[in-house]
Amino acid sequence: MGFSMEGWLVLDGYEDEPAAFGVPNYVGFHIRYICGVFESRGIPYTYMTIDQWRINNKHKLSSPDTRAKLKNELSDLAGAVVLAGAVVPGKYVRGTPISRRELDQFLSIFPREKPVLCGGWAIRHWRYDGWMPLRSNLFCTVQDTDATLDNFLSTNSWINKKRSIDQWKNWANKGASSKAVVNHPDLFTIDGRNGPLTYEVELYQGCVRFKRGCKFCIEPKKGIPIWREEQDIIDEVNLAIENGVQNIRLGGATDVYTYKAEGVLDLEYPIPNPEPISDLLFGLRENENLQILHVDNGNPSIIAENLGPSTEITKAMIDTLSDGAVLSFGLESADPLVHSNNWLNCDPKQLISAISHINDYGRERGLRGLPKLLPGLNFIAGLNGETASSYQMNLKLLQDIRNKGLLLRRINIRQVEGQGFQDIPEKIFKEFKETVRNTIDKPLLEELFPYGAIIRDVWWESHNNRIRDPKQVVNLEHRDISVYGKSGITFGRQIGAYPILTGIPYLLPLETKSDVVITGHGMRSISAVEIGLDINNVTQNQLSAIPGLGVKGAWKIISKRAIKLSKNNEKITSVSEAFTSAGVNMPELADRILVVK
Ligand code: SF4
Repeated sequence: MGFSMEGWLVLDGYEDEPAAFGVPNYVGFHIRYICGVFESRGIPYTYMTIDQWRINNKHKLSSPDTRAKLKNELSDLAGAVVLAGAVVPGKYVRGTPISRRELDQFLSIFPREKPVLCGGWAIRHWRYDGWMPLRSNLFCTVQDTDATLDNFLSTNSWINKKRSIDQWKNWANKGASSKAVVNHPDLFTIDGRNGPLTYEVELYQGCVRFKRGCKFCIEPKKGIPIWREEQDIIDEVNLAIENGVQNIRLGGATDVYTYKAEGVLDLEYPIPNPEPISDLLFGLRENENLQILHVDNGNPSIIAENLGPSTEITKAMIDTLSDGAVLSFGLESADPLVHSNNWLNCDPKQLISAISHINDYGRERGLRGLPKLLPGLNFIAGLNGETASSYQMNLKLLQDIRNKGLLLRRINIRQVEGQGFQDIPEKIFKEFKETVRNTIDKPLLEELFPYGAIIRDVWWESHNNRIRDPKQVVNLEHRDISVYGKSGITFGRQIGAYPILTGIPYLLPLETKSDVVITGHGMRSISAVEIGLDINNVTQNQLSAIPGLGVKGAWKIISKRAIKLSKNNEKITSVSEAFTSAGVNMPELADRILVVK
């Protein structure tokens, strides 16, 4: 896979912030704004993801010859911009954010005389930890990477800059047609079909708690929230759709309900304003080429304290979002002492009220087989004032939520450490996590994804491992129809927010999609089998994946089918015939999975 480079190199090291996500299959907005700067100035540039860099260049770093050759290739470039925005990189199926070591390697090979700009929260974090590469023309911005770059291109000097409202609008629009989109490896498959790319669009900046926000959070530092205009967002999304994008997530918002809320300057719980967000959601849906539309965060205390206007917003989301939408709620801790020590703003009573509200409207299932809209719930461990009883309170709250029959799509327990946080009692924390996983998460998963239910459009991403090996991107055999039905495991997810990892116990060509029936549950994943398998073509591996059939039963059916075909040149005419003639009991799910084509 060759990669010709020109102009500036924009290296997308991905981002994962509380209100900005850009790890494939997502493309983030900050990287697009950077490309938007080059687009608006007509300056040539190359967009490359860190995974593409690894595939194309990592192997060249170990030998002096290939290293010199790479250095020579890079010497034609005008400069580089690196975005590193994943502070605590987790494990992602389709991409791995840039590490500090990788950035050091990049800087060691990139020509020393060329300018390099690094931006994103990981850079700030590494700098805070003492990272200080020795290089003359390197600048690590602590403000907006796009605006800092723009200023450098005008003045040839490095100064931290913040983007103006006009620049924001301009770079967002230009970014929608930039190489970060049109050259993104997930936009189209190599045979030209639409890929799984999800375009994260920014709704606003900051948090309504800017005066006295949760102590651990970076958002209040951004000051008074700055809203983008509805029409600007719609225009940007329509441009992206013209360029082939199909899936959108409204991100860059600490709370969808407070977009253009009233009383932001004075009230602890500003009053949601249903009109702008509804206009935006319905305006986006006017584009018929928009497929998946999801949102990200919600603030449960705002919903609970303003149920009237919140209901209008919730209804607008139910009418416009694709099913499987998730509103992430940050409670962080159920302990009142932790609450007051850290200036948190949602208490358990408000949380339950907001979760009940979303369940009332969102638990009905949609076309892809998923509840339309459910809350996710975030806890943080390591906050000041935590004791062993904080974890008991968290668990008790989760039990109360379940006892009320309420659904949560996901429970995220995040550990924070370092300055400003306290030590976590390891044993108690581990026990808490395990109890949540076993007694809350697993039953929730079984209820959300019931055995025998059908979910649609699962996009196949990886063979034999939950994390895609980059070799599977390069080796086209993994996408070839010839792998179909062979032994192995294929992992995939539906498009959208927080999709469930789905495993199929045989191989399917990667970068294709299927409808499946659910056959089992792991701790945080499900197993499934495709529906619509032709009984006259199905392989033994596929048949044995049907629960209750097993290898022997599958073999008997395949042998009988072969005999019928070779002796009488006849095909099987019904699913039940295949089982009866082989003397095998037909399992419960067989008639959902098998068909005669
Ligand atoms: S409510 Fe708290 S955690 Fe959420 S964005 Fe605002 S300050 Fe941050």
